[in-house]
Amino acid sequence: MRIAAGATVGALQAALPLDPLENRILLCHALGLSRVGLITQSHRALDAAEAAALGALVARRLAGEPIAYIVGRREFFGLDLRVTDAVLIPRPDTELLVELALERLAPGAALLDMGTGSGAIAIAVGHTRPDARVSALDASEAALAVARANAAAHAVPVRFLHSDWFGALAGERFDMIVANPPYIASGDVHLSEGDLRFEPMAALTDHADGLAALRSIVAGAAAHLEAGAWLLLEHGYDQAAQVRALLAAHGYSEVQSWRDLSAIERVSGGIRV
Ligand code: GLN
Repeated sequence: MRIAAGATVGALQAALPLDPLENRILLCHALGLSRVGLITQSHRALDAAEAAALGALVARRLAGEPIAYIVGRREFFGLDLRVTDAVLIPRPDTELLVELALERLAPGAALLDMGTGSGAIAIAVGHTRPDARVSALDASEAALAVARANAAAHAVPVRFLHSDWFGALAGERFDMIVANPPYIASGDVHLSEGDLRFEPMAALTDHADGLAALRSIVAGAAAHLEAGAWLLLEHGYDQAAQVRALLAAHGYSEVQSWRDLSAIERVSGGIRV
């Protein structure tokens, strides 16, 4: 999109063709300003280079690219995380999984986050609970690079493993396993809408019925959990009953689901007996 040099910060906030919040985010990003800077510098005029840079950002957003990828950041559980298109954009829904894990994690417990992506879950838990011994794995080296950078930026010690689900774990056991695996069924219309079009397919869909990754994790987790340890899984809006049935079939106790802020059953879990 062409933006004229000489336009002011204040005028552009009203004139850009995105929603007001996104206008502000892209203006801050293009000009290196804080939110407060947008107000105190509302009369500042953009030079030609700034106008061109802002125009390029707005064009990317108009083409559908997620705002989190354009600015390379997303906040999760109060932490500013780096994101690239190698990782799923952390969602507020997933903060429920973090809260449930924190409520159940014993002092000094060993936690494993499977399919960590940006590292959001592992880093949020480790940041809140420095006593926890946090491990996180992913099948994507590109995702692990992002996760490692996030852990370092927040000084959270996380042990990262390159592993396709349980593949690289040998006989190791944990006091809790959490995962937000790919759970969208292949062919689901959501995959071709909105932000999801730009996110890594391997983080979104199992290329099957949406339950394939959840099934693999439930089937394999018992061999990697201590007795009495929780397995907590995020899943799709209509998968709670099926995930509870999987957990029950594998002998988990206290099998239950929890609702997210939209009152949708979003996380299910149980205790390995
Ligand atoms: N919660 C994401 C969405 O529906 C999907 C994430 C996932 O598959 N784990 O937008």
